[in-house]
Amino acid sequence: MARTGFYPGSFDPVTYGHLDIIARAARLVDKLVLGVGVHHGKQGLIAAEARIAVLETVTRPIAEHTGVKIVVTTFGGLTVEAARKHHAGVIIRGLRDASDFDYEVQMGQMNAGLAPDIETVFLAASPATRMIASSLVKQIARMGGDITLFIPKEAQEAVAAALGETAKPSH
Ligand code: ADP
Repeated sequence: MARTGFYPGSFDPVTYGHLDIIARAARLVDKLVLGVGVHHGKQGLIAAEARIAVLETVTRPIAEHTGVKIVVTTFGGLTVEAARKHHAGVIIRGLRDASDFDYEVQMGQMNAGLAPDIETVFLAASPATRMIASSLVKQIARMGGDITLFIPKEAQEAVAAALGETAKPSH
């Protein structure tokens, strides 16, 4: 039976940390759906359509290399409902540190209450990308710092476009 995974996140922007989780999740499933969460009142830096376009581009090599079908979509409601809509039996989440652990396990357990048939699989962040957080990438970019170590080129371009020229320091 083909196994589908659902990996939800903001991906605002997608980082090498997310890509590490995506590449490793692709070893566990036959099809991977990446859900870009768009929630009312929580507007991100990069528009959802642009996040999708970047995710599609940067995950293409993983799909080609592994043969796993990777689909990128948005979702606005409950993660478990989105997972079910895409016939996913597993939800994928990444764990960087103890605060991720506390939050993610709690959320995973509540999701298990809502949808006992869907299993959340937690992948521990890889050492090389463990420190990367989209929120910090955005802070660094806003202050004109170099983010090339943390996110792929297409995501850098999306961040730059979203921040616009005015965000760059003039000195
Ligand atoms: P959210 O707004 O849902 O936290 P994110 O895009 O920040 O969305 O993260 C989505 C998922 O990816 C979460 O499970 C998060 O813990 C995981 N994640 C984020 N950054 C990393 C990283 N550097 N390494 C491993 N997992 C990560």
